[in-house]
Amino acid sequence: MTVSVETRNLSITFGHGPTALKVLPDISFLVEPGECFGLVGESGSGKSTVLRCISMLTDFWKGEILINGKSVRDMPLIERCRTLQMVFQDPYGSLHPRQSVRTVLSEPLRIHKLTNHEERMQKVLSDVGLPGSFLDRFPHQLSGGQRQRVAIARALILEPSLLLLDEPTSALDVSVQAEILNLLQRLREEHGFTYIMVTHDLAVVDHMCDRFAVMLRGEITEILPREAIPGCEAVHPYSRELIGAS
Ligand code: ADP
Ligand code: MG
Repeated sequence: MTVSVETRNLSITFGHGPTALKVLPDISFLVEPGECFGLVGESGSGKSTVLRCISMLTDFWKGEILINGKSVRDMPLIERCRTLQMVFQDPYGSLHPRQSVRTVLSEPLRIHKLTNHEERMQKVLSDVGLPGSFLDRFPHQLSGGQRQRVAIARALILEPSLLLLDEPTSALDVSVQAEILNLLQRLREEHGFTYIMVTHDLAVVDHMCDRFAVMLRGEITEILPREAIPGCEAVHPYSRELIGAS
């Protein structure tokens, strides 16, 4: 199943009173089923916060977030985990050093009471281009790219429809970045995932995204098709600067 994602007047404020920090004043966008939608903008502009709201890792928001028309707030945790998963920037930080790949992949299967663990784990490892023998490896026995493949396998094991990718290649060597982007591209073609992908790298947008939103200080300056990058069709001065700088 492919899913749409809509944020309607999403706003988030951290803290209260005079020290309150309004990080997202009012964000609205619609991601079509099967689309790869990019979020770009300078550090601190609120890109990760948008993903954290959609996944309910942050719950201090107002407005609406709808997945296939259903509010994420109304989804029980179990349904949310089966619908969407996140992949983080740093595969070193997101895998526990004492957990083998088998533990990382089998825990969600156990929690969600799914059967055929071995078969599902072998399938997902093969999907991300790793041999089945890697089930018995620990993070320190993997390269950076292999760790990110395991993190992607962990995101895929419950067969979600939506992947929220927070700079998934930024911590990797350039050659490995290309491998992981190609992997994500292939997975999307094969499974029809919807992606929302945060990146500060326009080359990544050019490689992966159908459309992208430019964010500046918590606001979307404009939403552009990928084709706008070389032609620089952006209207807003900040997006023009960002695109011109690539
Ligand atoms: P980006 O991913 O674009 O670099 P973030 O979404 O991580 O930006 O952060 C946007 C702003 O929100 C930053 O100023 C950050 O310090 C602030 N922020 C993020 N999470 C919290 C939090 N839990 N409490 C307070 N401020 C936060
Ligand atoms: Mg971020």
